[in-house]
Amino acid sequence: MDANDGADAPYWNGLAEGRLLLPRCGGCGAWTWPAVSRCGGCGSEDMQWVERPMAATVFSWTRTWHRFGFTESLDLPFVSIVATVDDCGIRLLGRLDDPGQVDPVIGEAITGRIGATRVEGRDIPTIIWSRN
Ligand SMILES: [Zn+2]
Repeated sequence: MDANDGADAPYWNGLAEGRLLLPRCGGCGAWTWPAVSRCGGCGSEDMQWVERPMAATVFSWTRTWHRFGFTESLDLPFVSIVATVDDCGIRLLGRLDDPGQVDPVIGEAITGRIGATRVEGRDIPTIIWSRN
């Protein structure tokens, strides 16, 4: 992975510190994702990074049965979830803590914590979702 200096660097740095930080425009208050350096709605460059609780609902999910690149450290099968973070509408990708291999339900309430996925010898911060 290259140096973490993109518009989403505060997101990754936040995860590394154990916090979920999401970008909100200081001009119009809109949540923006993916992260941008300038608001598409009002043009403001005042992007504020706000700590959010890791409460969300399942927007979409898939169970992966076959290995592909960068998943070498994960036990098969594993479930990936796109979750809508409560009260801001931002959707984030994470992995489900899935001990019973019970299929998620769209709209189901879930809670995230920050874990890691081992990729090419490095631990990459990862959101791990659990059922409430
Ligand atoms: Zn704005």
